[in-house]
Amino acid sequence: MAGGLLHIDLSALASNWRTLRDAAGGAQAAAVVKADAYGTGIEQAVPALAQAGCHTFFVAHLSEAIRVRVVAPGATIYVLNGLFPGTPPAYLEHGLRPVLGSFEEIEEWAAFCRAQGQKHAAAIHVDTGMNRLGLTVPQGLTLKDRTELNDFETALLMSHFVSAEESGNPINLRQIEAFKAVRETLPGISASLANSSGIFLKEKPHFDLVRPGYALYGGNPLPDQDNPMRPVVGLEARIVQLRWVEEDDTVGYNARWLALGRRRIATLSIGYADGYPRSASARGRSGEELLAGQVLIAGRPCPFAGNVSMDLITVDVTEIPERNVKRGDTATVIGGALTVDEVGRRAGTIGYEILTSLGRRYARTYRGRQA
Ligand SMILES: *Cc1c(COP(=O)(O)O)cnc(C)c1O
Repeated sequence: MAGGLLHIDLSALASNWRTLRDAAGGAQAAAVVKADAYGTGIEQAVPALAQAGCHTFFVAHLSEAIRVRVVAPGATIYVLNGLFPGTPPAYLEHGLRPVLGSFEEIEEWAAFCRAQGQKHAAAIHVDTGMNRLGLTVPQGLTLKDRTELNDFETALLMSHFVSAEESGNPINLRQIEAFKAVRETLPGISASLANSSGIFLKEKPHFDLVRPGYALYGGNPLPDQDNPMRPVVGLEARIVQLRWVEEDDTVGYNARWLALGRRRIATLSIGYADGYPRSASARGRSGEELLAGQVLIAGRPCPFAGNVSMDLITVDVTEIPERNVKRGDTATVIGGALTVDEVGRRAGTIGYEILTSLGRRYARTYRGRQA
């Protein structure tokens, strides 16, 4: 019934987690499952990761953490996006840990713990270069003198890379040095810096715990090298209709694509309402080298023709023998050479956005699901 068929391979997800754990030397490997486990589904992904041996999860929001708690009763769960005023009781109720990123948040958590008479665990986030979330490095260096640190358990000191996928970017080393300086003032506290790409940096900034997200779901943590991860997500779209258009006919909204000669167009039953970026639209003349979306039909790449619509995408299938493509067939939207990284590139974005936008209308099937 659905226009798009989304396949999620939970055994590949588990295998990717093990690959990342092994790449992290002796450090503990957590899993970042924010944004519905990068679009793959918290309720399915978390049990698969837990069964593979993952005990620590990171999400962005308290609401996501509560969903993780339901399916991972024994896990350690951190909420990255800080502590909103008045929320500590919800953390306690569900056994969650906030990631504290300012002195105000630290004070609120400490006061809550004092009132409870219990030292509940939290992480502290030091911003070593993103300038987004977390204490500044100078603030981090004064942490050791703050009396509030006696009121709760600082279970983790963390920071986040700006550009770990650019292995030669000097900012990586600056962040590692700044993080080490703060860490040295807080002996005995577990430390975590690396995201997916950070795990593979030659400096091996693994510390005590690594926090991969993207690579778990098949994204390439090493953009200039072969992807060491297994694909987790596959997407197929149904062909609704096929038609011939004549020389100089246009296709799609605003008539931005022009046929050069007679072309055969297949209309697929997914669109930007399914999270497929409209920025992958193909504007210009057929046959020009446009950086635009593609799908695979009968194993061959077929370029987009015209603007991506809300519920439909039109593609040029002229190069496929007419009898090899018919109404009801499927086109591979993500799969084979069309990796999430490649789909992102063709839309002028990154694979992260492709995964986290995966549509709610797709029929989802999970492979390798645990009993
Ligand atoms: C999202 C996120 C991660 C995971 O990053 P990936 O690049 O997806 O591996 C790790 N740490 C923090 C703080 C994050 O926000």
